[in-house]
Amino acid sequence: MPKGQEREGVLEVPPSSGPPRRTTFFRGEKGKKNMINNKKLYFILLFLFVLCLILLGIIFSSQKQELSVNFFDVGQGDAILISQGNKQVLIDGGPNGQILLEKLGEYIPFWDRNIEVMIATHPDQDHIDGLIDAMKAYGVSEIIDNSAQSDSQVYKKYRETIEEKNIPRLKGQAGMNIKISNEANLEILYPGENLENNPKDTNADSIVSKLSFGDNSFLLTGDLPDNKEQELADKNINLKSGVLKVSHHGSKYATTSEFLEKVMPDDAVISAGKNNRYGHPSQEVLDRLNEKKINILRTDERGDIKYICDNTGELCILDL
Ligand SMILES: [Zn+2]
Repeated sequence: MPKGQEREGVLEVPPSSGPPRRTTFFRGEKGKKNMINNKKLYFILLFLFVLCLILLGIIFSSQKQELSVNFFDVGQGDAILISQGNKQVLIDGGPNGQILLEKLGEYIPFWDRNIEVMIATHPDQDHIDGLIDAMKAYGVSEIIDNSAQSDSQVYKKYRETIEEKNIPRLKGQAGMNIKISNEANLEILYPGENLENNPKDTNADSIVSKLSFGDNSFLLTGDLPDNKEQELADKNINLKSGVLKVSHHGSKYATTSEFLEKVMPDDAVISAGKNNRYGHPSQEVLDRLNEKKINILRTDERGDIKYICDNTGELCILDL
């Protein structure tokens, strides 16, 4: 009996109810897993596709060899970015780091975190203040300045940041060449070896440089005063340039008619802040430029002024 009962107990379990249900259960799980695997695969493919697009974008823009010369609207000050492929030269940083960083973010591709050369034309706040933040936000391969000292707090901070970031600092003087590419070269024309080093006239030692790209030239004069323009004009060097960055934001104490005759620019770029307290640019300078029928381009009127140079055999084009 106990054996029979045992047998009956086993038989009571419905033999058909187990396996089919189990089979259905496994099929459902497998289907779900397949769907999840497919979704994962789609995401991976989509991710790889987007990654390819980004990489292609980076390769394309780093190989793009057009040169751009950008005079930023940084208010009352100077900041000029020369850019070709993944090489950048920043001349001065304007009076405000926040404004400069916004401009650099706009003009330098997001993946390029290095500025090859930084130049501080002279140690005035409206030229070096922005550079301090740029040194903190970007890698800087080297910084060039005229080596003139200043007692100002901003100059102290500028020097401290160079030390902190361990940036090689070079003395910029006439004869120095910065080769941006086979086509583009920036030559320093001024100052010479000896500086005025007069804390009351820091402008006098401004670094003046000339960018050449084929037949195109840009003369960048910092805040050089008229007596030093004369000194430069008296040297036997070719100052002729299609674009002149007018010295000292258009101050009447620079940009003499004699100097303009040496440079003979088609365009004069004036970097000045709207309604600035110095009255820059002065009417005298505007008159001297108008007299010679030179196009006047002002950052306080037009915002950023940008030239695109595609080909050494062609004129650089003003990007409107
Ligand atoms: Zn200035």
